[in-house]
Amino acid sequence: MASLVFQTSFLGDTVLTTPLLAAVATRGPVDAVVTPLGATILRGNPTVRELIVYDKRGRDAGVLGLRRLARRLRTGAYDAAYLAQGSLRSAVLARAARIARRVGFDTSAGRALYTERVRYRRDAHHAERLWRLAAGDAAPAPPLEAIRPHLYPGDEERAAVDALLEELRGSEPLVAVAPGSIWGTKRWPHVAAMVSLLDEARFVVIGSDEDSTLAEMVAAAAPGRVLDATGRLTLLGSAELIRRCAVLVANDSAPTHLASGVDTPTITLFGPTVPAFGFGPLAPRSEALGVDGLACRPCHPHGPRECPLGHFSCMRTLEPSRVAAKVRNLLSTTSAT
Ligand code: SF4
Repeated sequence: MASLVFQTSFLGDTVLTTPLLAAVATRGPVDAVVTPLGATILRGNPTVRELIVYDKRGRDAGVLGLRRLARRLRTGAYDAAYLAQGSLRSAVLARAARIARRVGFDTSAGRALYTERVRYRRDAHHAERLWRLAAGDAAPAPPLEAIRPHLYPGDEERAAVDALLEELRGSEPLVAVAPGSIWGTKRWPHVAAMVSLLDEARFVVIGSDEDSTLAEMVAAAAPGRVLDATGRLTLLGSAELIRRCAVLVANDSAPTHLASGVDTPTITLFGPTVPAFGFGPLAPRSEALGVDGLACRPCHPHGPRECPLGHFSCMRTLEPSRVAAKVRNLLSTTSAT
């Protein structure tokens, strides 16, 4: 019995889909329809038989692209489709591919085209929500191990990270920081200040080349102890670099989930969003930090471009000394590789 998992949303969601993929794979072969970026992060995942790239904003855009992919999917003769991404387009695609059993969330835009609807549990971690597409509503609460994502960097990523780390001198433990986010108000503005408080560590800055200015600010805060890796690694390479670190400090964004996928303890800083949305860190000894007692928080499902109230207290008043103390505590109990 072959199955197909649809996941064409954000990168973090794709990482959080790996427990679902593993659960579906216990029943037979599983293929996954993913974005070009999603395919790069799932590379090497042993629970997936084939990654089928759907470039919905590029070469597969529009009705022609959808029809072309539907024809291809028909040849797979899938018995079941799990709609981890709930758009109407994905639902149309699954039906056009003539997949008889289509399982998705009861809140999704494409739900009218599903044959089975699973409750979207607002109070659960998103990895559990996705896992329940296979496990069902009646399944007991899963152990953390069942819903922890897993990523699989390979030789290529290991070699790239080995080469990069040659540039960094010293023997202090490595701390990864990921200061960027596509959502402006999710960016904690005190990463450099925190780094300047931690003489006992070396740092690597994770991100895309769009984060290079932020990386320069971090590097200036601890000369000689910071490696700017922004724009220099693939996504899976970044996961491998995070795996080498004792701790990751990140915003509520994709690097948190990369760290969950490689078991690196993470301090995730929440501003306009909160962990209760279901996207907190899942690696052991991880922690979510935010400013309590702020009436305006949370203010947005993702984080607005700018603070609508102008004061940005949710991130601005999250003190660097508080985060540095948490990092120090993790460094004292974690042995980095
Ligand atoms: S309104 Fe409040 S929660 Fe939203 S960005 Fe501003 S300070 Fe943060």
